[in-house]
Amino acid sequence: MTTAAEAPVKRSIAVTNPATGEVVTQFATQGPAAIEACVQAAHDAVRLLRATDFRTRASWLRQAADLLEADCEEVAHAIVVEMGKPIRQARAEVTKSARTMRYYADHAEEFLAEQPLPAPEQVGARRALTKYQPLGVVLAVMPWNYPIWQAMRFAAPALMAGNAGVLKHASNVPQSALYLDSLFIRGGFPPGSFSALLIGSDSVGSIIADPRTAAVTLTGSDGAGRSVGALAGRAIKKTVLELGGSDPFLVLPSADVEQAATTAVAARMNNNGQSCIAGKRFIVHTDVYDEFAALFAAKIAALSVGDPLEETTDIGPIATLDGRDELAAQVEDAIAHGARVLATAATPTGSAGWYYPPTLLDNVGPDSRLFQEEAFGPVAVLYRAADEQEAVTLANGTPFGLSSAVWTTDEDQAQRIVDALDAGAVFINGMSVSYPELPFGGVRNSGYGRELGAAGIREFCNLKTVWIA
Ligand code: NAP
Repeated sequence: MTTAAEAPVKRSIAVTNPATGEVVTQFATQGPAAIEACVQAAHDAVRLLRATDFRTRASWLRQAADLLEADCEEVAHAIVVEMGKPIRQARAEVTKSARTMRYYADHAEEFLAEQPLPAPEQVGARRALTKYQPLGVVLAVMPWNYPIWQAMRFAAPALMAGNAGVLKHASNVPQSALYLDSLFIRGGFPPGSFSALLIGSDSVGSIIADPRTAAVTLTGSDGAGRSVGALAGRAIKKTVLELGGSDPFLVLPSADVEQAATTAVAARMNNNGQSCIAGKRFIVHTDVYDEFAALFAAKIAALSVGDPLEETTDIGPIATLDGRDELAAQVEDAIAHGARVLATAATPTGSAGWYYPPTLLDNVGPDSRLFQEEAFGPVAVLYRAADEQEAVTLANGTPFGLSSAVWTTDEDQAQRIVDALDAGAVFINGMSVSYPELPFGGVRNSGYGRELGAAGIREFCNLKTVWIA
């Protein structure tokens, strides 16, 4: 078993502005001593948190939400410089995170209320009940694409349940990590309740193996999920894995095609196309294919790509140079295998930023990487389906199963497709969106477990059965 002292660590973590390619600032990577201090402080905080009630924790979380909203402009700016999303979307991320904090402050007690067994005599008891108790220290390994929101989906419910959180954020968003490191403590939570470590992924194994760590949640690629899931399995630690997706967006003949095409652009291009629940594969019934394709192509070509700090920008740069190169390689591979480019939007000329043009492809066949792989950027792929059955077969034809969208006004058809799709969610006549109220998670290579809603807070609890003679 690897210990913190044995694990190799990265030496520095940098913020590189994807709109310019310039290193903005660098932080020294934390080593074994800092990791040990952080895990011990979290372990100590669990004892304090367990002695507090929901009302107290809710008041701390609400104060932290107020602080986050007050800091909105500064935090949104840091997000843009770290990962390149348009500033309007960065502000919305901050606001949504604060709303989620208040949602759990308001509802945690109800979600974790004791449940008496209605007929205890059937199990030989005078009284029997279940209650939820915190697990302890939870490690969160988080991605860069929503640097505040992704972390908050774990942090707000975990803290309200009485757990302590240790965050290992993606290496390109250290400023967001450091902001979160102090936010909850500023709100009133005891020191150690929530901390962020500036470490590479090579240090994650030692924290998972540490006996003081109770559980781990990872949001990221399926490769990272496999690695962390295997480490947690070896240590018999509870896991939640929120992984990638290649979500289908189905358009059937009864749909409002104009509205579907407008929504398709938002579904694919939000967050510069770097969202796990983005519609990525647009599967359109042959009867409306040409109409949808023409509308979708025109709307994509009209997108404004540029400086993400400009209020009017629709699409900024790809967050990392590797990510941009990988996307380009996927598109080149598809074209080499016969794909057609139906539309692209112009990117800034002469910029050193990691821009990639919003692109619409069709004629992508099973021999292309994009047929199976997730495209993490503003690239949409159109598929023509002869009928409903073929649309569903195409929709289920990747190893993923995160979310999905279906456009039809035929309610029987909607029900059939809801039941047939291998996905953690189906949105009818809309696009996949995360809300604090809606459970969120996937099946197959998109992971397991749920965030958000009542399910999200129960993931990091021990469901304890109590039997009283
Ligand atoms: P990533 O490369 O998998 O990284 C995610 C996090 O995992 C980072 O903190 C990363 O640390 C860490 N990590 C990577 N490999 C690891 C390993 N072998 N062991 C331990 N930790 C490891 O993913 P990303 O590029 O940041 O995010 C994009 C992916 O996340 C996409 O596939 C997207 O669909 C998915 N995603 C899913 C959801 C969801 O809710 N289902 C939400 C958002 C994003 P370093 O940065 O230090 O490498």
